[in-house]
Amino acid sequence: MERIVQCALCDGQAELIVEKKEREFRKEKFVISEHFYKCENCGQDFTTSELDQIDTLQVYNQYREKYKSSSLPRSDH
Ligand SMILES: [Zn+2]
Repeated sequence: MERIVQCALCDGQAELIVEKKEREFRKEKFVISEHFYKCENCGQDFTTSELDQIDTLQVYNQYREKYKSSSLPRSDH
């Protein structure tokens, strides 16, 4: 992923920021490294679909890690 991108709102440059954040998935909380860009000019923060995907994958991986050894009830069907 790019470290510096063009701001979505102005002509400024936005820098990649990584912060620990809590995400809820299936009523459980997971701490992930959330990625987003913050513009040094206007202060706006925003994500891209690439960053969203990275963050979502972290939640899935942690969820899978947590339940891989136990029997996971198939509630999806
Ligand atoms: Zn900006």
